[in-house]
Amino acid sequence: MDKRLVVISNRVPVPDDGGPPAAGGLAVAVRAALRGREGVWFGWSGQVSDEPEETPRIQEAEGVTYVVIDLKPQDFEEYYNGFANRVLWPILHYRVDLAEFNRADLGGYVRVNQRFALGLSSVLRPDDLVWVHDYHLMPLARLLRARGHFNRLGFFLHIPVPPPDILQALPHHADIVGSLIDYDVVGVQTENDRDNLGRYLRTRGARRTGDPGVLATEDHRVRIGAFPVGIETDAFARLAAEAASSEIVTDMRESLSGRALVIGVDRLDYSKGLTNRMDAIERFFEHAPEWRRQVTFLQVTPKSRVEIPEYAAIQEAVSSAAGRINGAYGDVAWTPIRYINRSYGREDLAGLYRLARVGLITPLRDGMNLVAKEYVAAQDPADPGVLVLSQFAGAAAELPDALIVNPHEPEAVSAAIRRALEMPRDERVSRHAAMVEALHRNDVSGWAAEFMAALVGDVPPPAGEGASQ
Ligand code: UDP
Repeated sequence: MDKRLVVISNRVPVPDDGGPPAAGGLAVAVRAALRGREGVWFGWSGQVSDEPEETPRIQEAEGVTYVVIDLKPQDFEEYYNGFANRVLWPILHYRVDLAEFNRADLGGYVRVNQRFALGLSSVLRPDDLVWVHDYHLMPLARLLRARGHFNRLGFFLHIPVPPPDILQALPHHADIVGSLIDYDVVGVQTENDRDNLGRYLRTRGARRTGDPGVLATEDHRVRIGAFPVGIETDAFARLAAEAASSEIVTDMRESLSGRALVIGVDRLDYSKGLTNRMDAIERFFEHAPEWRRQVTFLQVTPKSRVEIPEYAAIQEAVSSAAGRINGAYGDVAWTPIRYINRSYGREDLAGLYRLARVGLITPLRDGMNLVAKEYVAAQDPADPGVLVLSQFAGAAAELPDALIVNPHEPEAVSAAIRRALEMPRDERVSRHAAMVEALHRNDVSGWAAEFMAALVGDVPPPAGEGASQ
């Protein structure tokens, strides 16, 4: 009998009665881990309340026990908007310049982690496996150990790990990033992230062991591994094929009047490289006049973290760049860039990806970038579109057959857009086939299974090569 799995994440998408289950990247990944075993999913309900109840609320749905707590307004502000999203997020995305540290926010972050640990104490059984997700909850292992929980504890970081020099710019980094050493397994997205974290933890006194994936302190061993998150490749491909005749795709196709479509889909976030992308598009119209009026760029950009000033600033910068380009190159019958600030459901997105001849995904830093993988999965294998992908997305390590670009060089991105639009079908088909094979090698259920194998301690012997902890 498999042991019970307790998953912990900042937000818990408790399914509404009757509504479809939440389908964000983390939700799909966590459901893959919970499939076929007894499971609990613990975290914040998404509700803010002046006097939250001490004891967590419990709800059973679809074979999973959901356990949620509410947060006070001050906790939400300091933990979530403050330390997690204004300090950890920028620093882990290599943007020390955007970090706005203050001690009150750090206090709120630790306080909410303590509340999580307290709430978990009422739920945890001694032989539960525990899997904590993401940067909101780094210190949880240390706090759970302090409360006397000796379960196997795993942590997965969905966002990048920068080199030690950058991590050390985080005030009190030893108590936050350094506390990752208290887990039994820490998973990150790429080998680059794993090497950076290994180097950092060695600056904190961890030692190499005979097993290249494992670091040790006086009394503890932690396995650090790259576990790139995958998607439900076949299910997504089916969704895209079905959506090809949906209303939104039909409307979109008609509105293109035969023009080629280039698509970008990104939360509004400075890590996504949206202003650099606008510069590249401008360069493209400047240098490829024969493509003017022949191509439409669709940029789907749901707003996120609207309370944070940097996010308002990026909105201003992207929308004014799109307006400038449309003003310079558009005419009465053609708008070069359609810039849209709403979000779409998975089916709609799948259909739009399939319609697009080019997926343009150029983050300055991204842990993985699931949109890149979804774009590939959605293509018609007989006549696929081309992925233009930043070298700084985690997905680039698995998708070398994309057109890999440096998002900081607008000329290079512009040239890649043109090459993608003009690429012969044979080359498109062979690049796409190689990328789909990579997605199949590591889809979301394989990802969850590999992490779980490491968490229960059932890992294959070290390969010996390439491990640099
Ligand atoms: N997404 C969505 N609707 C939208 C835009 C995005 O459902 O309008 C989904 C997208 O399909 C993907 C996820 O949100 O699964 C974004 O994940 P990604 O790793 O690309 O970026 P993140 O937002 O996590 O930084």
